[in-house]
Amino acid sequence: MSGNYGKLLILDADFLIVGGGVIGLAGAFELAQSGARVVVLERGVCGRESSWAGGGILSPLLPWDYSPAVTNLTRLGCEIYPAWVRQVAEISGIDPEYRRCGMLVLPDFDEPKAAAWSHAQQVRIDPAQSRDVQPKLGADTPALWLPDVAQVRNPRLMKALRVALERMGVTFKEQAEVIGLAIDAGHIAEIRTASASYRADRYVMAAGAWSRQLLGGLGEKVEIGPIRGQMLLFKAAPGELQEIVLRNGIYLIPRADGHILVGSTLEDVGFDKATTEQAATALHAQAVDILPLLADAAVERHWAGLRPASPGNIPIIARHPQVENLYLNGGHFRYGVTMAPASARILANLVFHRSQPFDISPYEWPK
Ligand SMILES: Cc1cc2nc3c(=O)[nH]c(=O)nc-3n(C[C@H](O)[C@H](O)[C@H](O)COP(=O)(O)OP(=O)(O)OC[C@H]3O[C@@H](n4cnc5c(N)ncnc54)[C@H](O)[C@@H]3O)c2cc1C
Repeated sequence: MSGNYGKLLILDADFLIVGGGVIGLAGAFELAQSGARVVVLERGVCGRESSWAGGGILSPLLPWDYSPAVTNLTRLGCEIYPAWVRQVAEISGIDPEYRRCGMLVLPDFDEPKAAAWSHAQQVRIDPAQSRDVQPKLGADTPALWLPDVAQVRNPRLMKALRVALERMGVTFKEQAEVIGLAIDAGHIAEIRTASASYRADRYVMAAGAWSRQLLGGLGEKVEIGPIRGQMLLFKAAPGELQEIVLRNGIYLIPRADGHILVGSTLEDVGFDKATTEQAATALHAQAVDILPLLADAAVERHWAGLRPASPGNIPIIARHPQVENLYLNGGHFRYGVTMAPASARILANLVFHRSQPFDISPYEWPK
């Protein structure tokens, strides 16, 4: 070890989690519930990156397009959500607005593939006419109706998790960017920020799109990187839209107070979180085309976030093959909000040597 990294803080923690997004905080919740002493280090303020920017749909957009590795995690996430979110709300006093609102899928879609997936997974997907489900849509087109799809208001979920965790005894260090991992004999000995070094028994990296940067040489095989997504927020009267609507990759998400989120772009532009006029115009036009009443609705906000992209949308939830007290929980790409409680469960099962709910080999650290 070299250099001066300020004071050494031995926090008496079992786990030090780096990254205060939904993956880091869901992990902290699960570990703390198992009785572990947990510290979260966050570069900025918790829950302000991808986990804030996302839409909060609790499902893959076209679930039948994904591998079993994605389906297993999203399904388990959806099963855990109702009780999990209730607990987080009870402890924090903040309602993350979990709602089973259903999702209407407009063409193009592969109906036989969707039907086969629905049959194999025992998930309800009904053929429908768009007007039967959502009379305010412009066209009377054939559609697929997924009644069990839920949503959560992710910025509120993040606030609720932050408050709940503090009440559960989790320690937070914000404005604490980790800039180095000190290795000693196949072990992380400590991790460093600009002003201090921290020690714990085990370290969990949950830095989203920044996971690879954070890991440095330990993350050479880790294929996680940023993909930008831009969103527009409309304000309509409450109840104008009841269901999530999806058409060719563009979705509308109605919140209970009348806000309607429209997203999103998929852009490979590095760590650039800027918004563009071009994306705003395109999202606006597509939103109005799907739901004509939005032509008269105010646009309140336009933002961008960086998804932690991974091959096949399959995250890594694993221990490092050589560094025995280093874990990674990252690369949830488009579905991190959905996958968060399931990923946390798998991580906890791993560290406490409990049995897993399904084959977790797809989430191994790449060798
Ligand atoms: C536009 C958009 C729409 C989306 N819609 C949905 C959706 O509808 N449903 C769904 O399930 N998912 C959705 N997602 C995906 C989802 O938001 C992400 O998969 C999820 O938020 C990833 O969580 P995370 O905790 O890994 O990353 P993040 O939320 O980005 O958190 C990572 C944290 O690590 C911190 N960090 C980074 N480096 C360091 C460091 N060196 N030291 C300390 N801290 C560090 C960051 O500051 C950040 O707070 C969407 C994403 C976007 C952008």
